[in-house]
Amino acid sequence: MALLIKDNCINCDMCDPECPNEAITFGAEIYEINPDLCTECVGFYEKPTCMAVCPINCIIIDPAHVETEQQLLDKFAELYIQSS
Ligand code: SF4
Ligand code: SF4
Repeated sequence: MALLIKDNCINCDMCDPECPNEAITFGAEIYEINPDLCTECVGFYEKPTCMAVCPINCIIIDPAHVETEQQLLDKFAELYIQSS
C-alpha cells in the first residue's frame, strides 16, 4: 500500500528527508506522497519510516492505493534494479 498524508499535516518537514524513495514532496498546502514511488518502505525498512517520524500520526494507509507485499516488491525492483 502506498501511504497518504492527511490534511491535518503541520508541515514540520520531518518525513520528507527520511523517505528512501523521495516519494514525499511539498504540495499545494501540505506534504504529499507520490503513490508511484511509495513502496511502504519495502526494500529498505521493516516499517514505514515516515509514519515512525511523524509527530502527529497523520500518515495513514491510502485506501485508494492498496497493494500486496509482492506488488510493493515489484515496484521497488522497477525503481532500483536496472535490466542489463
Ligand atoms: S512509507 Fe516509506 S516509501 Fe512510502 S512515503 Fe513513507 S517513507 Fe516514503
Ligand atoms: S512528519 Fe507528519 S506532520 Fe510533519 S510534514 Fe510529514 S506528514 Fe506532515
